[in-house]
Amino acid sequence: MTNAMPDLMPETPSTFDIRHSSFIPPATIGILGGGQLGRMLALEARRCGYRVAVYTDERPGCPAGQVAEIEINAAYDDKSALARFLSEVDVVTAEFENIPDLCLQAVEAVKPLRPSRKAIHTTQHREREKLFLREQGIACAEFRIIEDLAGLEKAVSELGCPCVIKTAAFGYDGKGQCKVNADTDLTSAWQAFEGHHAVVEQWVPFVCEISVVGARSVDGRMAVNGVVENQHAHHILDLSIAPACVETAIVDQALALWEAVAIGLDYVGTMAVELFVTAEGKVLVNEIAPRPHNSGHYTIDACLTNQFQQQLRAICGLSLGDPTQHTPAVMINLLGDVWPEEKVHPDWSPVLNHPRAKLHLYGKAEARAKRKMGHITVLGDTLEEALETAASIKLALGVA
Ligand code: AMP
Repeated sequence: MTNAMPDLMPETPSTFDIRHSSFIPPATIGILGGGQLGRMLALEARRCGYRVAVYTDERPGCPAGQVAEIEINAAYDDKSALARFLSEVDVVTAEFENIPDLCLQAVEAVKPLRPSRKAIHTTQHREREKLFLREQGIACAEFRIIEDLAGLEKAVSELGCPCVIKTAAFGYDGKGQCKVNADTDLTSAWQAFEGHHAVVEQWVPFVCEISVVGARSVDGRMAVNGVVENQHAHHILDLSIAPACVETAIVDQALALWEAVAIGLDYVGTMAVELFVTAEGKVLVNEIAPRPHNSGHYTIDACLTNQFQQQLRAICGLSLGDPTQHTPAVMINLLGDVWPEEKVHPDWSPVLNHPRAKLHLYGKAEARAKRKMGHITVLGDTLEEALETAASIKLALGVA
């Protein structure tokens, strides 16, 4: 039951020689970053008997560090801490993209970094990402790169309104963005971006937002978990519906775009591509995430091989698993807003008592507004059933 045929069937024998180029347990997986994506990868890796070392600039006891054998807490440019980390690990991956390039270069000089420094460097910066998409001929919203007010004025006159200004660096979940309408004062809109490069993008009047999460192995094989529909609230993912209820033509375009990105980046690991679907039935790339993705969390409970297992297999130079989805699923994000107080947990009994709901908490000590604290996967015999259960659980938890 999936809307995407995996191109990697279980009966296909792999010709890849795992004795020479792969890392098998108890090899040590190095993870750059200490958040929930690193935590879920670490849990998957440890379940398989790998050791895990986490390198993060967060305080000790971060979500990934809690479940790793080794946690190193230091700045990403701390050469001696990085050397200590590299002496412990066999292969390195990243659980978030905003890692300074010098750190990526230092890692890649010593150990296999998967995905590569080039793939992370391209996708961590909106300007480089957009230029990559243009260069590869991959469909995305029309855009201009700007660096001053005159550039903004020219871009807005060429692209028309509405459009959106996005910072080139360090933007996520709608942060560092400003929508420009016909009556927007460009001088004041530009103030927040002054001194930085920005991307101005044509507004896409999308009918829905979807994503594709999949993986590419060292030998170039690909396996995708299908197409998911994503609903956002305040620019943050609220609900993922898997599989997405979209026409086959949309699925085909989405999978083709994911593949084009993966091949263009010579990608190794798990990667997500977020996409817009227009009323005319066209699919456009919005963003690339060089890592597992929030919209792929449902794969833990609903697919034969989840996105973290796939990441592990890919970075270790192993064959990918069968990504087939076995049960319809809805994923509900749990933000800090659900917590009655910073350190007082909600009453989880509506989830824990439900036979088809799974609670995932990320071990974050303080619940702050808009902070991703966990998620719930709800399974159903049908998507409608999963959606109904998700709605009733949201209501019981008081999730808006
Ligand atoms: P981003 O951080 O670029 O993924 O943007 C966050 C959200 O803003 C997206 O999920 C969309 O809902 C919306 N958005 C971003 N860019 C556009 C666009 N060009 N047209 C319409 N909506 C957009």
